[in-house]
Amino acid sequence: MRILLAEDDPMIGDSLRKGLRGEGFTVDWVQDGRSAERALETTDYALVLLDLGLPRKDGLAVLNGWRQRGLTVPVLILTARDAVPDRVKGLDSGADDYLVKPFDLAELLARMRALLRRQAGRARDLIEIGALRLDPVAHAVEYQGQPVALSAREFALLHALMERPGMALSREQLEDRLYGWGEEVESNAVEVHIHNLRRKLSPGIIRTVRGVGYRIGEPS
Ligand code: CA
Repeated sequence: MRILLAEDDPMIGDSLRKGLRGEGFTVDWVQDGRSAERALETTDYALVLLDLGLPRKDGLAVLNGWRQRGLTVPVLILTARDAVPDRVKGLDSGADDYLVKPFDLAELLARMRALLRRQAGRARDLIEIGALRLDPVAHAVEYQGQPVALSAREFALLHALMERPGMALSREQLEDRLYGWGEEVESNAVEVHIHNLRRKLSPGIIRTVRGVGYRIGEPS
């Protein structure tokens, strides 16, 4: 899942990016309000983590602009401004949730999961296709009732395909889901992950759609 992190504090930003990557998220990190605006114009994000005190353009102003333009991406505000009026202003501007610094990564992750669930309109997190079952919260995959150990990127790739059963995704779309800006993408990375998934699960689990890309198969 690709998320945008807008945070100008280099220590907080760096540790959040590391922590979130460790949880399998693809993270694009920007450090000012204008860059956050630009990022949302060019890239599709599952969620935005937005600091309010940002240089070049304040987080609240950025958020107001997004909501005025009808963008519905879930936004979780991260800020040191713990005064009640600021919290109210954030929520009135269209934030979906609010976390006051300093906070625990575990609490942030729980709130992110809640927002993602709400956005997807799903009460449950499990995605099941045939004998294949994926739990995005526990980061677990079962095939024919047996747990299967996957790397973070194998998991992210399988998740992307299972979210859109019957739809083919191009290699570029999959790379977008797996790698953030500035991350080195090897030219055959997607093919290698798909090869591994077919080996660990079953050869028919991912179908190649000629000239288009890949879609999830019908696992027996
Ligand atoms: Ca700040």
